[in-house]
Amino acid sequence: MSRIAKRSFGEFEITVINDGGLEFPSHVFPDVEENRLNGLLTDSGKTAIETSFNVLHIRAGEESILVDTGAGAHFGPTAGFLQQALSEAAIHPEDVSRVVFTHLHPDHFGGSMTDDGHPVFANAELILTETERRFWTDDANFSGADANTIEWRRMGLDALECYGDRVSTKGAGGEVAPGVHLVDLPGHTKGHAGIRIDSGGTQFIYAADILHAQDLQLADPNLCAAFDADKDQARATRNRTLDMLATDGILISGAHFLDRFIGYVEHAAGGYRITPA
Ligand SMILES: [Zn+2]
Repeated sequence: MSRIAKRSFGEFEITVINDGGLEFPSHVFPDVEENRLNGLLTDSGKTAIETSFNVLHIRAGEESILVDTGAGAHFGPTAGFLQQALSEAAIHPEDVSRVVFTHLHPDHFGGSMTDDGHPVFANAELILTETERRFWTDDANFSGADANTIEWRRMGLDALECYGDRVSTKGAGGEVAPGVHLVDLPGHTKGHAGIRIDSGGTQFIYAADILHAQDLQLADPNLCAAFDADKDQARATRNRTLDMLATDGILISGAHFLDRFIGYVEHAAGGYRITPA
């Protein structure tokens, strides 16, 4: 089974890399009743809430940019296949010039550090938004947090620390590399960001964690996963972004779409649907 899907436009070649996936238990979507959830799955021809863990690679000239690093060892035996996928794509970890963390959750930073605490991408600058870095480094945001959150935080800070002085932060819309910009997508986490590239007449957005289960959240963008830190803001960002993607015909991918998706979003009755490019 291939773990990669490539597409080129303008000066850029993008590769969507599948790091693995899993099935979510229904409590990941706590606000939807079981009947409604089962109805949405049936409409999609599914019997389980499937998700993928994706990573995006961007190549342009000398730049080899990895957006997120997959789950590493943190999500069990069905995820953490980044290294195999990179080999398949002939992407060499030592050649990666920049790594972007769209946000500091373990399914995004998990593949960035070796078991003994060294950077997997030894020559890369590590980039995240200043808002995200500030949130996770401020103890005040974690007083009274549950054990799981505390553990996620510790792992995230370890990942940042192992890149040492090669960590840099950007403001909203900041430039990652020539022609590659961050897109502010707040709500899932405080400093959650996607990636935008406009080149050769193509507009492309990597929408990161705009959604976690396409079979539920395209039909009903108001549904939030339990991981959305600020549900109202995440819902507003999801609705606004999906509408923009559909209205403007923007090529998209994202961190949790299935089947290495690269394609388009369209308005559909009450929600959205996606079609591969
Ligand atoms: Zn995620």
